[in-house]
Amino acid sequence: MIKTVYVNIPSYIEDSNYRYKMPKPQLKIEGRGNGIKTNIMNLHEIAKALNCHDQYPLKYLGFEFGSQTSYKFKNDNDVTCIINGAFQDDQIRKQLDKFIEKYILCQKCRYPEMYMKIKGGKIIYGQCDSCGHVSDLDNAHRLASYILKNPPGNQSIKSGQEEVQMINSEGQTGNKEDKQKKKKVLAAEVGLDSELLEAFLVQLRDTYNRLVVNDKIDNDVADMMLTQDIKKFNLDRHLKDRVCYLIFQSMFDENPTKAFERNYELLTTYFNDLDPQLASCHIILNIQYLMKKRNIDDKYFTTVLKGFYDYSYIDEQYLLKWFENTDEWKNESKEDFLFNEQLDNHYRQLSEPMINWMKSQAGQEEEYYEEEEAEGEQPDVQQ
Ligand SMILES: [Zn+2]
Repeated sequence: MIKTVYVNIPSYIEDSNYRYKMPKPQLKIEGRGNGIKTNIMNLHEIAKALNCHDQYPLKYLGFEFGSQTSYKFKNDNDVTCIINGAFQDDQIRKQLDKFIEKYILCQKCRYPEMYMKIKGGKIIYGQCDSCGHVSDLDNAHRLASYILKNPPGNQSIKSGQEEVQMINSEGQTGNKEDKQKKKKVLAAEVGLDSELLEAFLVQLRDTYNRLVVNDKIDNDVADMMLTQDIKKFNLDRHLKDRVCYLIFQSMFDENPTKAFERNYELLTTYFNDLDPQLASCHIILNIQYLMKKRNIDDKYFTTVLKGFYDYSYIDEQYLLKWFENTDEWKNESKEDFLFNEQLDNHYRQLSEPMINWMKSQAGQEEEYYEEEEAEGEQPDVQQ
């Protein structure tokens, strides 16, 4: 076994406590004469650390060295990345750092927190998840045209979709048992760390941003396309909490309440399809996680919670169950992969004024409806 050695991203940063690290490239020279080539044995792991396709750094190295590359992906543990010619650690490391500077690091804060995106099908740009900075990337490099043809999200998604199609296609090959086995494997793969989930997340985010960036597409079309993206993933019911998570991750940012109106239809379609109780549970946990992940000030928690409540995405009775920390809530929430007891208690405390307000409103609303009914009109009851 070769022990994995980690270096900083990029490797010339000398701080040993730096939090962004990637595996040091492991090279193996294979063949000889004209057929000599360099196998970058752990490029797949490196690309994972860089949060990009294996092919991006591989092609970059190929272009820089003027060499052919070859790439084979069988599964997560069996990926082959080869460059023709014999290259030394130093050469690979230097070029990999250049790739990182151009396509991975935020141009402002220099952290490798940038999401690569494409606008108008022509320009590659990046948005930083750490500082929010947006800037164009190196569109003149030969890699740029490769990226445009193979946009972020697409390749790994392809393998994910193929798998889903395989499961959905009836009968031609394999028997039922095989298919069931495959379905189980796929379900198991969709964990938080799974590449498939990550790829789906990237795709959703890309789709969403593409639609937002491109003003020509109207909201209805945008919502429809996003819905299709979600449907394509074909998750079974047990994985619905993951879809909820993906929706949150892709639609809600530092200002979650803004996303309601724009995505009203999609959100409603999705949440209506879930058991109201289950949906409420997922939503509450996702709000907590979003607040934490996006560093949203605690004082906005009730605003966000109320937003979801106002749009009827959270069931009122369930919200009270959550607030009272009933056994029902405890049993259900701990099944969800986002549940964190400490966070849960923290936000529960913060929500007290809002819950009190809600309780006082509930009484008033009843009176209001009674009056309306007395006048012979249908009350505008929430769905
Ligand atoms: Zn930044």
